Amino acid sequence: MKPSLMRSTPVLLALCAASAFAAPPHEHGVGRLDVAVEHGRVTLLLEMPLDSLVGFEHAPRNAVEREAARAALAKLHDAARLWRVDAAAGCAAPTVEIGAGPIEAGEHGSHEPAHAHDDGHAHDDGDGHADAEASFSFECSAAERAAFVDTGLLESFPRLRTVNVQLATRQGQWKTLLTRPMTRLPLVR
Ligand SMILES: [Zn+2]
Repeated sequence: MKPSLMRSTPVLLALCAASAFAAPPHEHGVGRLDVAVEHGRVTLLLEMPLDSLVGFEHAPRNAVEREAARAALAKLHDAARLWRVDAAAGCAAPTVEIGAGPIEAGEHGSHEPAHAHDDGHAHDDGDGHADAEASFSFECSAAERAAFVDTGLLESFPRLRTVNVQLATRQGQWKTLLTRPMTRLPLVR
């Protein structure tokens, strides 16, 4: 076992290096959602390319982009529109946490002193990609009774085409896809 592992390691490393070089860090239009249904809690963790959220992946560079970032973050905070957990589960409004890197920094950028100017330096060097992450944690009186989540996610973010969903419930773990025109994500198999 051990010698064969050692023999295969350089090959694996080479494959990893090759794929890391060739593959983009994310695919625009494709998001990822982890859903966990536990005792007393339903948690949704969403990750999507900033491109799918707001249409660019750098800090806002002008008033139009600042407004786009503000509007996109507001939509991401709007948990009531994004997720409606099956009423049978008795969930309260969720705790929401959002990380959106460059476009959050851009909000502060709007408060820069008037003499600040665009010096033309690109800050998104390298591959220039960035993701947004958001977690929505619902406390529920009967989480195990949640049979579905109704979602406005694809409606809120037209640039998002597909979401790879991974579910973990008392029934086990499985994967599914969220695509248009779906607005209901089953939580049972
Ligand atoms: Zn990207």
